[in-house]
Amino acid sequence: MSSSTSHEHEMLRSMVTRFVAEELMPHEELVDCLGEVPEDIGRQIEARGKEAGLFAANLPEAIGGGGLDYESMRIIEREFGKTSHALHAWVARPTEILLGCEGDQIARYLTPCVTGEKRELFALTEPEAGSDIMSMKSNAKRDGRDWILNGSKHFISGPTMPDFAIVFAVTGLDETPRGQRRRVTAFLVDVGTPGFDIKIGNRSVSYRGYNTYALSFSDVRLGPDQILGKEGEGLELAGKWLGMGRVWVGASCCGKAERMFGMAADWAANRKQFGQAIGKFQGTGFKLADMAVELRAADLLVDDAVRRANSGTMTDIDASMVKLYCSEMLHRVADSTVQIFGGMGLMEEVPVQRLWRDSRLERIWDGTSEIQRHIISRAILRPLGA
Ligand SMILES: Cc1cc2nc3c(=O)[nH]c(=O)nc-3n(C[C@H](O)[C@H](O)[C@H](O)COP(=O)(O)OP(=O)(O)OC[C@H]3O[C@@H](n4cnc5c(N)ncnc54)[C@H](O)[C@@H]3O)c2cc1C
Repeated sequence: MSSSTSHEHEMLRSMVTRFVAEELMPHEELVDCLGEVPEDIGRQIEARGKEAGLFAANLPEAIGGGGLDYESMRIIEREFGKTSHALHAWVARPTEILLGCEGDQIARYLTPCVTGEKRELFALTEPEAGSDIMSMKSNAKRDGRDWILNGSKHFISGPTMPDFAIVFAVTGLDETPRGQRRRVTAFLVDVGTPGFDIKIGNRSVSYRGYNTYALSFSDVRLGPDQILGKEGEGLELAGKWLGMGRVWVGASCCGKAERMFGMAADWAANRKQFGQAIGKFQGTGFKLADMAVELRAADLLVDDAVRRANSGTMTDIDASMVKLYCSEMLHRVADSTVQIFGGMGLMEEVPVQRLWRDSRLERIWDGTSEIQRHIISRAILRPLGA
């Protein structure tokens, strides 16, 4: 990964800010209203993203990606966070787990995701296994050299119908000092494989137009070359990259909070009641003060995590703290923005209600706030023997 100077980071920030304003925001209302991204708009965003050098910016240059450093990726995710996932997801940042591809898998899965010829899904969650992922029912059993996959996944999200899914399934049991532990393996499963059914699933009111897919597997035969990484090491492979994903959620929350804060401040300065700007009432002005302080604190937490990631010292706890604080901060900022707008905050004619709906998801995906608190509190208590 290359490292850039702060001048290059500033140039990147203004380029991405312009990209978001010109290529993404103009489609927000239409997409929210339709509940889908028209294919031509999605393809246009994809093409413009490639022209701007933003496509697959997170992956190494050696395989055709942008090779951007963490600070640059933080800038991109923060600016993209100001708009809808349904739109910026067309500028793919393929999951880094694909860097685990080996041999023929590189040409078959990794490279096409870098060029945009293929799209992937990350399929972990199941209808009965959300936070408690180890209770997953999806399983694969050996049949000679092959594997036979059965099970289902839901809430698996992406901007458009994918070409393949990275599917996590139980492939056996390990004996450990703390009892039996399920072996989870990641498989690369092509759409179109007999027995693999994929369709658009539940429709989220956050980021309308960002699809969630329901996947089902009925005796799907997979060759040994469709295992990503090593058999039984799927979660370890995913875990290597999940932390950075949580930091990017944090950066994205800061971007959205900044946008909402700007709207709230503007409204508070201009809306008059009782003969004066509502911002002059402490009940409103103090809300703005709290929003500003919390946003600054959230940005500093992201800064700190990026610095730790650069020095190779970032832990899962650091990433959980960023995800927890930034998503909860966004929730408070979004709610205060609606409150400052009063009734107008809930009207479809202004974007506040849409950003408020979009914000809600951030406390849920990539591990709920309760799960982040669980991770942090275990790290505090485990060394104390509790
Ligand atoms: C729009 C959208 C897109 C998504 N995209 C993907 C994707 O691409 N790939 C993917 O694999 N998943 C995806 N997810 C799934 C997401 O990660 C899960 O929704 C999330 O992990 C929570 O699981 P759940 O919804 O089943 O809630 P549950 O696990 O049922 O949790 C319900 C409530 O119980 C609480 N809870 C559960 N366990 C505990 C505990 N131990 N302690 C305290 N509280 C607890 C939770 O915090 C939550 O408040 C997506 C979800 C959504 C909504």
